[in-house]
Amino acid sequence: MATPDDTLREQNESPERAAFRAEALAFLEAHAEPRAETDPWEVMGFPDDAEALAHFEKCRAWQRTMADHGWAGLTWPTEYGGHGAEAWASRIFAEESARFGSNAGFVRASMAMLGPTLLALGTEDQKRRFLPPMLRADEVWCQLFSEPGAGSDLAGLATRAVLDGDEFVVDGQKVWNSSAQFCEWGFLLVRTDPEAPKHRGISFLLLDMSSPGVEVRPLVQANGSAHFNEVFLDGVRIPAANLVGDLHGGWGPARMVLANEASFIGGSGAGRRTSDRLIDLARLFGRQADLVVRQELARAYSRERIAGLMGRRMRDISRQGGPPPFDPALMKVFVTDSKIHTGQVAATIAGPAGMASPTDDDRICRWVQAEVINRYTISIGGGTTEVQKNNLGERSLGLPREPRSDKDIPWKDVPRS
Ligand SMILES: Cc1cc2nc3c(=O)[nH]c(=O)nc-3n(C[C@H](O)[C@H](O)[C@H](O)COP(=O)(O)OP(=O)(O)OC[C@H]3O[C@@H](n4cnc5c(N)ncnc54)[C@H](O)[C@@H]3O)c2cc1C
Repeated sequence: MATPDDTLREQNESPERAAFRAEALAFLEAHAEPRAETDPWEVMGFPDDAEALAHFEKCRAWQRTMADHGWAGLTWPTEYGGHGAEAWASRIFAEESARFGSNAGFVRASMAMLGPTLLALGTEDQKRRFLPPMLRADEVWCQLFSEPGAGSDLAGLATRAVLDGDEFVVDGQKVWNSSAQFCEWGFLLVRTDPEAPKHRGISFLLLDMSSPGVEVRPLVQANGSAHFNEVFLDGVRIPAANLVGDLHGGWGPARMVLANEASFIGGSGAGRRTSDRLIDLARLFGRQADLVVRQELARAYSRERIAGLMGRRMRDISRQGGPPPFDPALMKVFVTDSKIHTGQVAATIAGPAGMASPTDDDRICRWVQAEVINRYTISIGGGTTEVQKNNLGERSLGLPREPRSDKDIPWKDVPRS
């Protein structure tokens, strides 16, 4: 069904863009999974390891198909496997892709975090070595930032790296590392100068996850799935050539990754609409005429549309290399609040039956449960809402900075539990 947006696009599109859109659609029709063939009630989070791996490999395979047919890295430079296209090409491809069921999922998220960081701050050798296999998902990357004692206070991290000739030797522990059990590479923050204040003694390294001394232990959650891992690093040797940015200057690339992550999470509201599912749910439960439910459905839909437009503006400008039009934290906070809201609406519509067996259809019951249980995950991952609000207050509203007693003292002298 044509939406008001489709009509607007058709009226305003130049012949060049319309032709590009037709080409994108032809590729997607030939290779992507039609939306109708995907399960609208599919739940991410697989209690079975084999199922989780199969999903990961499906995401990898879709990224590879896009790369092999020239549709990955549209705006990336050609010398690193991209196509040097303008931002509009990427946007049109994303719009057409959203009509189909295929999605590169985590593979896309990790590319969105690290790709632009390497493009901006990587050495020429790093860009040539790592970007083409990243685009084709021959190598998928996990984020190795958080530690048991360093989450919101990421700059307090304690994993040590010591330069030994032309290699770093790394010892420490990371935690909450999404999909690390499946990834070939990780981007890792380490402490290289304990004498310096905490933000100034960190370095950013690229780690081959098959290196001796790397142990990945999946963490099984209450729902039975192992989304996260602990990663133990014991005398792991990393070539000095895998340092991104300056030695002890890792906070710069780390911030860039975090901003990319906030933008990505904030922009991920596009695609399959949760409000569509909620409307289906209201029909299934006979709540579509309920005045309160209708208000909440309208609110969910409006917030999705606003998030979609914000994401589009952010992506268009960043693909052209411009500074973000607004703080990425703003989008993350907005999308996070929307996710909490839609989880609550699902619970309101389904009521207690949603936790049991609402429709004699287990898929729908599982979907309601996942929406309710998972509604807070993105308020933590990629930086908590409280921390994002602090960032907004300081960066966008000009409020006084939070008091930081440990800002200027050597990291080694900061009290730690
Ligand atoms: C779905 C998901 C995926 C994740 N994936 C990854 C990953 O791939 N790689 C990775 O490295 N990490 C990952 N994480 C970890 C995530 O980055 C951390 O959980 C997050 O930064 C919070 O850190 P913490 O869990 O240590 O909580 P803490 O930092 O201990 O925070 C506890 C509570 O205190 C509040 N708080 C802390 N400091 C302040 C402050 N200054 N002002 C106000 N409130 C504050 C927080 O908001 C929170 O409510 C993931 C987490 C989730 C949920």
